[in-house]
Amino acid sequence: MAEIPAYATQGPRTPLAPFTIVRREPGLHDVLIEIAFCGICHSDLHQVRDEWGRSIFPMVPGHEIVGTVLAVGREVRRFRTGESVGVGCFVDSCRNCEACRSGEEQFCSVGMCLTYNGYERDGVTPTYGGYSTRIVVDENYVLHLPEGLPHERAAPLLCAGITTYSPLRREGAGPGRRVGIMGLGGLGHMAVKLAKAMGAEVTVLSHSAGKRSGAKQLGADHFVHTADAGQLKKHAGIFDLILDTVSASHDYNGVLDLLRRDGTLVLVGVPPPAPLAAGSLIMKRRRLTGSLIGGIRETQEMLDFCAAQGVAADVEVIPIQKVNEAYDRMERGDVHYRFVIDLASLRETTR
Ligand code: NAP
Ligand code: ZN
Ligand code: ZN
Repeated sequence: MAEIPAYATQGPRTPLAPFTIVRREPGLHDVLIEIAFCGICHSDLHQVRDEWGRSIFPMVPGHEIVGTVLAVGREVRRFRTGESVGVGCFVDSCRNCEACRSGEEQFCSVGMCLTYNGYERDGVTPTYGGYSTRIVVDENYVLHLPEGLPHERAAPLLCAGITTYSPLRREGAGPGRRVGIMGLGGLGHMAVKLAKAMGAEVTVLSHSAGKRSGAKQLGADHFVHTADAGQLKKHAGIFDLILDTVSASHDYNGVLDLLRRDGTLVLVGVPPPAPLAAGSLIMKRRRLTGSLIGGIRETQEMLDFCAAQGVAADVEVIPIQKVNEAYDRMERGDVHYRFVIDLASLRETTR
């Protein structure tokens, strides 16, 4: 057992502050990782504030983790010391159910072991995330970071990247397909880059008029200001696919109206519930679905795709001491497009 510096929150109304956690000694199949960078996902904010209920405190958030292997257990075959690696939203699962066996561990019937705000497979040991200097993870839940991806720009791929890659792939984003990306935040900006890399025609649907030029810089072909009823009307019934990444409650019926016949709306943002009218689906036989991160195999595929295509996140790197300020800015939508914590700032203060 080793004591590790971290940042934790003690309850939904308490700011994040220095905290010490204990990590297990690496077992036979474990990888000990020195964390270099950890992205700040809006899910961190939802869970720290207990917006989804059942939050476990103290909480050390962080599930967009990139670092270097410091040591491996004796039976570890897939990783070696010094290698660059990543860890995403879960660190274990039952490994035995149909979902686990088909590489969709995020849907494990026993429940995946979340990287934080969850428990290890024993069901009692709390998990602590990447706002810390080191983490110990079973090798089956660690990703290889391909060469050519800068660490700080790769960290957000472990959640924002896979959460958008998976539905874009599954729903066939590609040449000849009109794809709308709703909400231009951490997930949204990755979705724009990935959908463009897949060859789709991409439109950003944003409630922030000021994001127009940023959307174009990211590669989007078009921009629609969703607060402008006239612009929305002009785009009614044209999209094959819309990925909704919005973190706040909003009108799904208005989004569905933008889809053509048989078009698909995929929800990935997790706001509070909002009403849905059957007619929005029925009138053009539209489909409504959701998507949850991605399995280990697909996450590796996404990382390799990003390296091959030169796709990575646009980030603002911060020291951990600024994490509470970053949360406030993320809540106001003032981030381009992902905050990433440099964990050197935590090592330095505790040396
Ligand atoms: P983010 O960076 O904060 O971006 C959210 C975006 O939502 C904002 O940039 C903004 O885009 C839009 N938005 C915010 N407030 C709004 C409002 N009041 N009305 C309309 N639009 C608003 O968050 P993120 O990290 O991308 O995460 C987005 C959501 O996905 C969160 O709910 C998160 O928990 C969820 N998530 C889900 C999964 C999954 O597996 N399904 C994985 C990760 C995250 P515009 O200014 O462009 O409108
Ligand atoms: Zn996330
Ligand atoms: Zn399982």
